[in-house]
Amino acid sequence: MGLKQYIADIVEAVVTTAKGMRITARYGVDAKEEITQQYPEVRREPSERFRGFLHNDIARCTSCTMCVKVCPVDCISLEAVRGADKKMVLASYDINIGRCMYCGLCVEACPTKCLTHTSGYEKASVDRGELILHFVHEDPAEIKARVAKQVAEAAAKAAEAAKAAEAAKAAESPKMTESLRPGKAEGSIVPAAPAFAAAVGNPGGGNPGGPKAPDAAKEEWEKKG
Ligand code: SF4
Ligand code: SF4
Repeated sequence: MGLKQYIADIVEAVVTTAKGMRITARYGVDAKEEITQQYPEVRREPSERFRGFLHNDIARCTSCTMCVKVCPVDCISLEAVRGADKKMVLASYDINIGRCMYCGLCVEACPTKCLTHTSGYEKASVDRGELILHFVHEDPAEIKARVAKQVAEAAAKAAEAAKAAEAAKAAESPKMTESLRPGKAEGSIVPAAPAFAAAVGNPGGGNPGGPKAPDAAKEEWEKKG
């Protein structure tokens, strides 16, 4: 490198540094040029489709477990038991937002749309336990015990009702048998056998299309012979 080139490099370095410092000085003194937000005093409003912390409106959650199955990092856990009305009852529903990567797959999969992203994003903590969001605030064991009791009560009621219905049926059946006996009970719709045979003109039996009396059959056979 010659002396000429050496001096040209020094001049270029001085000029480019001066250009850079001019831009820096402009941002430093002109408030309109500021691009740094003074967080946390100033907070930027997230955009409409921002995927922040998840929220589950558990009143609409059907415990279908679609969100649990679709989550690629297993950060949703739920427990549910079947209630007396055959519907599932949530005992617990937790989301570990420390593990969540905010992909939104669970929200897409939720059939009732009760799982949504909020605009929340501030949850700095030194305790990982605080990063687990609990959406059911009652003790799961208490919920399960309460539901089990309701189920047992409903089953006892159903058994009682079935027993009462059976007893009523048993009390009803002798009357039915009596009324169906031919020509016996008052109001019977089935006439006595001789009366029926006479009515259809078949002395051989109650069924006109059935076998004929032996004498009549013999007569008919001799005629044919
Ligand atoms: S946003 Fe993604 S990672 Fe987070 S809970 Fe839903 S499916 Fe899992
Ligand atoms: S997918 Fe929706 S309805 Fe099903 S368990 Fe998850 S939050 Fe509840």
